[in-house]
Amino acid sequence: VTFVDQDDPAAWRAAVRPTTRAFFAETVANPLAQVLDVRLVADIAHDAGVPLIIDNTVATPYLQRPKQHGADIVVHSATKFIGGHGAALGGLVVDLGTFDFTADAARWPQLNTPLARVPGAALTEQFGPKAYLTLLRTKYSQDLGPSLSAFNAFQLLQGLESLDLRMARHSATAQTVAETLDTHPAVARVHHPGLASSPWHDAATRYLPRGAASVFSFELHPGADADDDFTRAAALIDRLHVAQLVANIGDARTLVAHPASMTHSHLSPAQLAAGGITSATIRLSIGLEDPADIVADLTDALDALSPGR
Ligand SMILES: *Cc1c(COP(=O)(O)O)cnc(C)c1O
Repeated sequence: VTFVDQDDPAAWRAAVRPTTRAFFAETVANPLAQVLDVRLVADIAHDAGVPLIIDNTVATPYLQRPKQHGADIVVHSATKFIGGHGAALGGLVVDLGTFDFTADAARWPQLNTPLARVPGAALTEQFGPKAYLTLLRTKYSQDLGPSLSAFNAFQLLQGLESLDLRMARHSATAQTVAETLDTHPAVARVHHPGLASSPWHDAATRYLPRGAASVFSFELHPGADADDDFTRAAALIDRLHVAQLVANIGDARTLVAHPASMTHSHLSPAQLAAGGITSATIRLSIGLEDPADIVADLTDALDALSPGR
């Protein structure tokens, strides 16, 4: 895998090798809520002869339909907004049927030459546009076994029925919270693409017209050093009562996390810095509670950090 700055088209182009099989990116990344220029990256992927695979977990199909912007395969963690309650693990792969795996047959031998697992002709000959999904269902799902239990499937499907109502509320409340945080003196910066100050505001206007992300981060003013930042971030999080300290996202409840010591703690200090994450970075996943309660919770905790307010 070659990692690139997803906003840099030249970096995507320069990373292409004869062995490249796909481009992969998130529509809304985590924890800083960068918004991908899907069309730009899709065009570069197609010039290179490979599909664009999109992780649309944070946006969900309510906020964005990546097929409209050139994506070929979309993956979701259904554990998040699709289920909506943080109660069941699951995921989806959606083959949009747009990528021609026969155009460069040598690049995809598992699809274009007969496979012992599925006797007969190559998958593309037997199953046409369903070749890739057939490979996933046989080799990866049935043989390796990552299948949903019936009860998890029930919980995820029940969540899916209210996806549009929930996403509209998650996004609207997140916008309010981001705007409130942006004016608080204890906050140095809010990484939310719905704010005009965000470098991804234009992309959000184009790609997320129904509302921007409800998973985003903000930063406290930097202290003496990383330990000091950690201490103050921890003190802030300890004062929260509505927002719960948990590592997941996309829950009915508002969740708070400290990426540098939790979700991203496996990264080195240099990798954290390259990712724009400091010890003063705090991530939120805005839930479905009354927006006023969420705003009051954060404001009260921040006020305690900035005496005199
Ligand atoms: C959580 C998450 C995953 C992993 O999904 P699980 O359901 O936890 O296995 C993948 N991509 C994104 C963007 C996520 O937030």
